[in-house]
Amino acid sequence: MGNIKKEDILEILDGYDKENITIATLGSHTSLHILKGAKDEGFRTAIVCEKGREVPYQRFNVADEYIIVDEFKDIVNEEVQEQLRAMNAIVVPHGSFVAYAGLENVEDKFNVPMFGNRDILRWEAERDKERQLLVEGNVRIPFKYDNPEEIDRPVMVKFPGARGGRGYFVASSTEEFNEKIATMKERGWLDDEDAAQAHIEEYVSGCNYCIHYFYSALDDTVEVMGMDTRYESSIDGFVRMPAKDQLDIPLTPSYVVTGNHPAVIRESLLPQVFEMGDKLTESAKKLVAPGLNGPFCMQTLVNDNLEVICFEISARTDGGTNTFMDSSPYSFLTYGKPMSMGRRIALEIKNGIERGELEKIIT
Ligand code: AMP
Repeated sequence: MGNIKKEDILEILDGYDKENITIATLGSHTSLHILKGAKDEGFRTAIVCEKGREVPYQRFNVADEYIIVDEFKDIVNEEVQEQLRAMNAIVVPHGSFVAYAGLENVEDKFNVPMFGNRDILRWEAERDKERQLLVEGNVRIPFKYDNPEEIDRPVMVKFPGARGGRGYFVASSTEEFNEKIATMKERGWLDDEDAAQAHIEEYVSGCNYCIHYFYSALDDTVEVMGMDTRYESSIDGFVRMPAKDQLDIPLTPSYVVTGNHPAVIRESLLPQVFEMGDKLTESAKKLVAPGLNGPFCMQTLVNDNLEVICFEISARTDGGTNTFMDSSPYSFLTYGKPMSMGRRIALEIKNGIERGELEKIIT
């Protein structure tokens, strides 16, 4: 755990007017439905927005208050934190919040109550810790190679800090791995340190489902909220080209997410979907109590044996939740009314206030 202690956050929360809580977030990623959902549950909303990026929030009218900053990372500046505390703000973290504010700043400097479990953010950011969560939970994951000499089938190669799929490559043998590493180094795309940390895993040939769950620490329940698949550049454009042209052009595809499609999974796979969400929730409780506490996502590939294999997780709300800003087929089954992930977060905060149990879900 960083310098920010739960006791200090609870003290700040103690001083808050619980009748006038503001739900706040950084203007990026999933902030539109986080704030819209908060409004639907009756909260005031605030956005910390980089100058020049206000347009979507104004046009969709989701924020009651704007804190305009020069750069996103200024959300950790003391004056901004003071403004947030003065409006009784609970901040909802998302992928861009962690990326722009910086994980260390969130752990050591950001003295504002946040929704969820601050400590788990590091567990999704570091590949070894992320894997530990999955292994401890006995979740089916791609086979990992400790040594490139052992490559005996197609593998996916990933590098530190290369999240988002830029610089990933596929190889089928040790020779191909070595050649591709050498080319990347020659082109200045990879240094020796990152090359030594190449993460090599089984290439799973299957269809992508990113499954969005919500763990309620108040009720100890795991809900499936929705699913999406990724629309990735350049690979999804590349595969539209006839195979013989693909062979002719010297293009190395990348896997950079540019958007998402909503998805539903075969109904017969839902037992696996619930089981893996439950397993991860349990291992997270053990390794980094109180665990996932709120939204989390398991990014999976489903092979033709109908196995759901998880290759990555997000331990906070994931960008793919933007596919159900109103409702998903699954959240509709549970709630029978529009329920986005943002609204589900606000509902949990509302329940926490009503039951006097906010301390269970604030960090
Ligand atoms: P990630 O950055 O881990 O979310 O991965 C980006 C993309 O790479 C995914 O959406 C998949 O298309 C692809 N990918 C990642 N891991 C694997 C794997 N083990 N097998 C096949 N494709 C993968």
